[in-house]
Amino acid sequence: MDNELPRGLHPDDTDLWYAAVDLLSRCYRTGRHEVAAALRTANGRISTGLHVEGSAGRSSVCAEGVALGNVFSGADTEVLAVVAALHRPGPGGGLLRPIAPCGVCRELLVDHCPGARVYTHENDVLVPVELPAAPEDVRGFDPSRATVAGSVTAWTALGLMPGKNPRGW
Ligand SMILES: [Zn+2]
Repeated sequence: MDNELPRGLHPDDTDLWYAAVDLLSRCYRTGRHEVAAALRTANGRISTGLHVEGSAGRSSVCAEGVALGNVFSGADTEVLAVVAALHRPGPGGGLLRPIAPCGVCRELLVDHCPGARVYTHENDVLVPVELPAAPEDVRGFDPSRATVAGSVTAWTALGLMPGKNPRGW
């Protein structure tokens, strides 16, 4: 994949970005699977997860949670970094950008990997608002044609929720 990287992404997390983008480009479906996440564990393994949207709010499952479950399905459970990618279809290949963990995922990540590197995303407005609406049921996309938008800031999971008490497992 010869694609632009989000500005600010740690060099060690390039493979996570590409893993998330690869999964999302194959499995993207409008309104159903719009985010993919990739997690790196202590031995260098990468686990991925795909977002699954549900019709009732809480029935939706975030990509980060799916990826975390995949991590805990193996023996290597120490998560060092998390990268998630969001796609929006549109002219010229659409938009591809990192997405910060939502509030529920922040809770989950602090419980299980408080020191893991996570990202927030800035400069989120690079696609003009007058673009025509995308087709309603797009499946997959070509990541080499998508515009990679904005920049990221690295945090630890706990750094995103400094007031959260550590879970006493
Ligand atoms: Zn989430």
